[in-house]
Amino acid sequence: MGPTLPVLVLNQNYEPLNVCNVRRAFVLLDRGKAETIENGRGYLHSATAVYEIPSVIRLIYLIRRPRPQGRLTRRDVFLRDRFTCQYCGKQTRDLTLDHVLPRHRGGVHSWENVVAACKLCNHRKAGRTPVEAHMRLPKEPYRPAHSYFWSFYPYLESQVEWRKFIPATELEMGFA
Ligand SMILES: [Zn+2]
Repeated sequence: MGPTLPVLVLNQNYEPLNVCNVRRAFVLLDRGKAETIENGRGYLHSATAVYEIPSVIRLIYLIRRPRPQGRLTRRDVFLRDRFTCQYCGKQTRDLTLDHVLPRHRGGVHSWENVVAACKLCNHRKAGRTPVEAHMRLPKEPYRPAHSYFWSFYPYLESQVEWRKFIPATELEMGFA
């Protein structure tokens, strides 16, 4: 379990960059490319030495790269909408992805045009717009402020010590 535990990697400026595992973190630390910011997970014993298992590491050099613009997945949208149908407000894990302006009518697959919908509402709306279907959307779908947040979100419930490295506005979205 130890070598495969997730480790939060911060950029030199403390911005969250990505998640690696303990094995990879040890390589970065060993090569002097990163330093440990948080430990507290116990120890890993090799044949000759004992290593403290890192939880958060920080790169020594600043990595310049654009924010990852991954493909928008169903999971991203369900997380943004907190597993709640945007039409009827029902909270459920049994959701579908609804294109507000249907794709066959020219609707695009973007944050601004997709919402989580329960099966009943999706069936009711069918290939129509909300206006045509007389179904109100209580709020306009939006693009989250920092999309990279979503790659850390799944870990934040268990990795409590990571939370202080994720900007507060983003935390409030999920852990108010
Ligand atoms: Zn619904």
